[in-house]
Amino acid sequence: MSLKGIAASSGIAFGKVFKYEKKEMVITDKKTENKEEAFGLLKKAIAKSEQELVIIRDETIRRIDEDHGMIFNAHIQILKDPELYSQTVQKIESEHLNPAAAFKAVSEQFAMIFDMMDDAYMKERASDIRDVSERVLAHILGVELVDFKQINEPVIVVAQDLTPSDTAQLDKDLVEGFITNIGGRTSHSAIMARTLEIPAIVGTKTIMDDVNHGDIVILDGLSGIVEINPSKDLIDEYKRKAKSYEDQKRTWAMLKEEATVTACGHHVELAANIGSPKDLEGVMNNGGEGVGLYRTEFLYMDSDDFPTEEKQFEAYKSVLEGLNPKPVVIRTLDIGGDKELKYMDMPHELNPFLGHRAVRLCFEKKEMFKTQLRALLRASNFGNLKIMFPMIATLEDFRQAERILEEAKAELISEGQNVSENLEVGIMVEIPAVALLADQFAKKVDFFSIGTNDLIQYTFAADRMNERVSYLYQPYNPSLLRLIKLVIDAAHSEGKWVGMCGEMAGDEIAIPLLLGLGLDEFSMSASSILPARDIIKGLTKTEMETLASEALMKDTNEAVIKLVKKTLGGK
Ligand code: PEP
Ligand code: MG
Repeated sequence: MSLKGIAASSGIAFGKVFKYEKKEMVITDKKTENKEEAFGLLKKAIAKSEQELVIIRDETIRRIDEDHGMIFNAHIQILKDPELYSQTVQKIESEHLNPAAAFKAVSEQFAMIFDMMDDAYMKERASDIRDVSERVLAHILGVELVDFKQINEPVIVVAQDLTPSDTAQLDKDLVEGFITNIGGRTSHSAIMARTLEIPAIVGTKTIMDDVNHGDIVILDGLSGIVEINPSKDLIDEYKRKAKSYEDQKRTWAMLKEEATVTACGHHVELAANIGSPKDLEGVMNNGGEGVGLYRTEFLYMDSDDFPTEEKQFEAYKSVLEGLNPKPVVIRTLDIGGDKELKYMDMPHELNPFLGHRAVRLCFEKKEMFKTQLRALLRASNFGNLKIMFPMIATLEDFRQAERILEEAKAELISEGQNVSENLEVGIMVEIPAVALLADQFAKKVDFFSIGTNDLIQYTFAADRMNERVSYLYQPYNPSLLRLIKLVIDAAHSEGKWVGMCGEMAGDEIAIPLLLGLGLDEFSMSASSILPARDIIKGLTKTEMETLASEALMKDTNEAVIKLVKKTLGGK
């Protein structure tokens, strides 16, 4: 059986299905009637958890290393803590709580003690306690616990959806790829897959019903096709396809040290989008000429509490130093939408992508914002930093962000700290209101970076997470191209540069059009850089300008695709 979804990250993977299903654990306030039975259940759940943790520890040591295995040793120690057991027993005795409610109450009390400690290492122990507690509770309640830590062999993860923090937990050495029911090409799990260079297909709608744990699948991240329990002939056919893709990658690799220059000698910059300092390796391996978007929210999402100024400073500094003197655009926190922080109270919103996200939230949490800005300003001394504000909607938004940045700068200077003189400050253009008023914004900012992932969802009023409206992700539609032209022309009239950090920047049909429209910097998943350089090498600026003007006069997305294909036919 085969199935088609949205090709989200290229590459071909073969493997066993690991079905990731989050089961809800419902803890009631039902009183315990039979205490002996409750104690027995508790003891059994703890013993079962320990057995599992020993297996996970040994497997982790065998497959990864001793250090990673020791994490589970710490979990076993927590489980064996006599206080955890005796206090739970006491709660059952005195308050007649059921064992799940009693264990949850006691373990949460323990976790809170660590939560309140100042030391970052001790604080992290709180999440270890919660992890262990979840395992024990699952056994008490008879709920099957599925988590990524159980993966101890190469697998393809199949899930309803993966949140960005789920994706961040995937172990690249064992997860060969993932397939989800929901999501689009620009949902963050898809973006993360491209950063991690893991093949992925999203938006299949039914994969969770179509496969069982342990089935064999082929994941073709180039076409979006999933083959379930394929025949040997089909596996052989895909092996050939995978080999020819690997050969193509080797050809691209030869462009790694080259500059990005068109056939007529026009230079553009090809930069990478990253989510953490760890991604720098991918930028280097793929010949990136800088970082056009560092999504700092992953630093916040990977922590158990707001990252301190020092922790942020170290992360930003390492990226700036690692690439110096190449440019690094660091975007301030863009939380909200599909990105949540487990330690921040974020009220449920009906339309989170139109809601209280990014700078809107930072303005309300000014101290949190200022901590990030201070870390960025201090890091500016270590490389070529450009600070970028996300989700700016009005000039007043930009002024407010700038005011807080100025406050942070003044604070640092009064403390005797240095801030780079060459720092640039720009904005993302991802809201149509900004594109339409780009001439005014261009007078105030140092640069623009067009965020087409959001700009497209807002222009077509089509949620980027909803696969049912994914047909409205129309990057070549003349309506969008006209908005992009407004932005580029406005910036150039003021002598400012324009980049694009939405996924469109790495799209092979879009690249010729963007070159023709005059885009200066293209920022994309690192794995798209070399194929993009290969395309640009074969193009000439004036021909692409003619192509872009013709495209602007077309009437549909499809008409533009046809035009690009016809024009580049022979290339
Ligand atoms: C965008 O909106 O195009 C963008 C790059 O930002 P994000 O995908 O993080 O919303
Ligand atoms: Mg965006």
